[in-house]
Amino acid sequence: MSTIITRFPPSPTGYLHVGGARTALFNWFYARHTKGRFILRIEDTDTVRSTQASVDAIFDALKWLGIDWDEGPYFQTQRFHIYAEYVQKLLDSGHAYYCTCSAEKVEAMRQQAMATGGKPKYDGTCREKGLAKCENAVVRFRAPQTGTTVIHDVVKGNIVFQNAEQDDFIIQRSDGTPTYNFVVVVDDICMGINTIIRGDDHVNNTPRQIMLYKALGAELPVFAHVPMVLGKDKTRLSKRHGSMSVTEYRDMGFLPEAMINYLVRLGWSCGDQEFFTREELIEKFSLEHIGRSAGVFDMDKLLALNADHIKATPPRVLTPHLMPFLKSNGYAAEEGDYLDQVILTLNARCKTLLEMAEQARFYYVDTVEYDSAAAEKVLKPECLDSLNLLLRQMEPLTDFSVAALEKVFLTIMETTGLKLGKIAQPVRVALTGKTASPGIFEIIEILGKAKVIDRLQQAVTYIENRG
Ligand code: GLU
Repeated sequence: MSTIITRFPPSPTGYLHVGGARTALFNWFYARHTKGRFILRIEDTDTVRSTQASVDAIFDALKWLGIDWDEGPYFQTQRFHIYAEYVQKLLDSGHAYYCTCSAEKVEAMRQQAMATGGKPKYDGTCREKGLAKCENAVVRFRAPQTGTTVIHDVVKGNIVFQNAEQDDFIIQRSDGTPTYNFVVVVDDICMGINTIIRGDDHVNNTPRQIMLYKALGAELPVFAHVPMVLGKDKTRLSKRHGSMSVTEYRDMGFLPEAMINYLVRLGWSCGDQEFFTREELIEKFSLEHIGRSAGVFDMDKLLALNADHIKATPPRVLTPHLMPFLKSNGYAAEEGDYLDQVILTLNARCKTLLEMAEQARFYYVDTVEYDSAAAEKVLKPECLDSLNLLLRQMEPLTDFSVAALEKVFLTIMETTGLKLGKIAQPVRVALTGKTASPGIFEIIEILGKAKVIDRLQQAVTYIENRG
C-alpha cells in the first residue's frame, strides 16, 4: 500500500467549529495511524467571505488541538496559475468547452427544465459549437450524459448517481476564476491526496469531482463521508446548541486531549472504550469503525470526559493549560512543587480547568474570604476551644507532615472527646473559606505552618468578634 496522504481544507470564513475540528482530527489521526502524510490547505477562493482573522483562528485552534501538518499550509488564492493550466488541459482533451450563454439564458433553461418535471440544468447549447475563447465566455465541463457515477464510500457504501441528472457544470467563470469543485480536484490530484475524509454535506459534490478525476486521467482517492455532528435535538449542530468554536472550549477550561478524545469518539468507536489518550487514538484509529449514524454532541459527556482527562494528566503536563486560568484569577502561581501539590489535591474534584482555578483560590490568596453560609454554620463559639488547642499544639511543630498533623488531631480528639469532623470542619472553613475542600491534612501540609497558623488565628478572632 502506498503512503496514505490526507488533507484538511478549511474555508477561512469563520472560526474552526466542532464539526470541522472532527474532520481535521479524523484526517490527522488516519495519517498518523498509517504513518502517512497530512496536508493543510486553506480554501480561500471566496475572497469576499475569507478573512485573515479566520485563517489565524483556524491555525490557533489546530495548534491547541495539537494537530500539526507535514505539508502546507497551501492557499488556493496562490494557485490560480495551476488551475488555469488544468482548465487548458481539459479544453485540449475535449473534456471542456467555452460557453457564451448569458446567465439569464441559463436561468431560463433551468426554469424550463423544472417546468417539464426535470432537474434544473444547463441544456448544452454551446456543447458542440466549438467556440473559441472570447470575452464573457465561461468554461464548462463536458459531463457524461449517460450511465452512472458511483462513490465507493468507505462509510456509506456505494452511492449511485445518474449521469443524466448532471449538467455541464462551469469550471471557470467568465472573469477567469475557477470554481469550487474544480479547484478541490486539481489540488487533491496535485497534492497526491489518496484519502478524503470529510463531512457528508459534501456527498453531492462528489460525483462532479469523480467525473473530473476521470477526465484528467487521475486515480480516484478513497472517499469517507462522515455523518454530521448533531445537537441533542437531532438537528445539525449550530450556535444555538452552545459553543461552536473549538477555542471557546479551551477558554471554558477543557483540555485539548479531552476535546480530541470526545470529538473522535463522536463518530468513531473502538468497542466500548470511551477514554483514549492521543497515543491510543493514533494506534487504533481506522476508517472501518467510523459510524454510519450522526454523532450527537452532548456537553455532559464532554464534561465527564474532561474530568477524566484532568485526573489522568500529570501535574507538570496540566500546568501550562491551567496557568492562564490561575493568572486570570490574579494568583501569583508558578510552575513547581507547590502547584503540583495543589493540582494533585484538586484533580479528582473538578470538571474543567476553570473550576480547578476557582477551587485553588485558597491556596493563593493572602486572606481567605469565608463563604457566608459556611461561616454562619461552622465558625461558632463552641469551636474556640479546639481551635485554640490546635494552635497551641501546632505552634511548636517542626514537622508539618500529614503524619505529624494526624497525631495532633488525635490528641485533641482524646482531650476534648470530639469526633474528627467536629474539629476538622472549623479548620476547613478557616483555611479554605468553604465547607467542602480536599482532605484537611493534605491542605494543612501544603499551605504550610505559617499560613495555617495565621488563618486559624484569624478564624479565632472572627468568632470572638462575632460573639
Ligand atoms: N473547504 C471545504 C469546507 O470547508 C472542504 C472541502 C472538502 O473537504 O473537499 O467545507
